[in-house]
Amino acid sequence: MTQIIMPYRTTPKLIFPVENFKKIQDDFRDLGFFQGKDWGVHLGIDIKLQAETKIFSIGRGTVVYSKLHPAEFSDQGELTKKNWGGVVIIAHHNYKSKKTFYSLYGHLGKRYVKTGDLVEMGELIGTIGKSLSESNGGWKSEHLHFAIYHGPFHGKVLPGYLSKEEENTKMEYWSDPETFIEQYNQPKNQNE
Ligand SMILES: [Zn+2]
Repeated sequence: MTQIIMPYRTTPKLIFPVENFKKIQDDFRDLGFFQGKDWGVHLGIDIKLQAETKIFSIGRGTVVYSKLHPAEFSDQGELTKKNWGGVVIIAHHNYKSKKTFYSLYGHLGKRYVKTGDLVEMGELIGTIGKSLSESNGGWKSEHLHFAIYHGPFHGKVLPGYLSKEEENTKMEYWSDPETFIEQYNQPKNQNE
């Protein structure tokens, strides 16, 4: 099997993944201790949005991951495992630094893109999942988990938290998405 390695498409500009982007919680790098579990350091931002809200690609890129990681329920309908729900990861090429970075969108109810799809800035990629459903991953709050990643990508889903015990990622691989997007669009700034 021949693997063709091509650089990802250049991403000239970025937008926010949702119309009227308004960050409800500034929780990037917050410690996620809730419901009796230490989740670790939060690697993205959670944007509270109603189910069915449309989510858009932040920039031109290539879809490298699109999959449902469903919440699990017992036969009695009780939630037994929280999860990502629907998740999409898009690869982008930073024309200034010449490096690849990734945008990640979690808890999607519907996904309109599949791995290998080429997307443009502002293209509809999915919608927000319904509270406590398989596709929102079993979370009560309807929200988008949105993250920017710069580390190596091996075709597997990326973590939402940096787990101290598992050492599943490195903090330096992640950026605050709001700051990153604003700086990316400034012509003189060299983004990593
Ligand atoms: Zn989150």
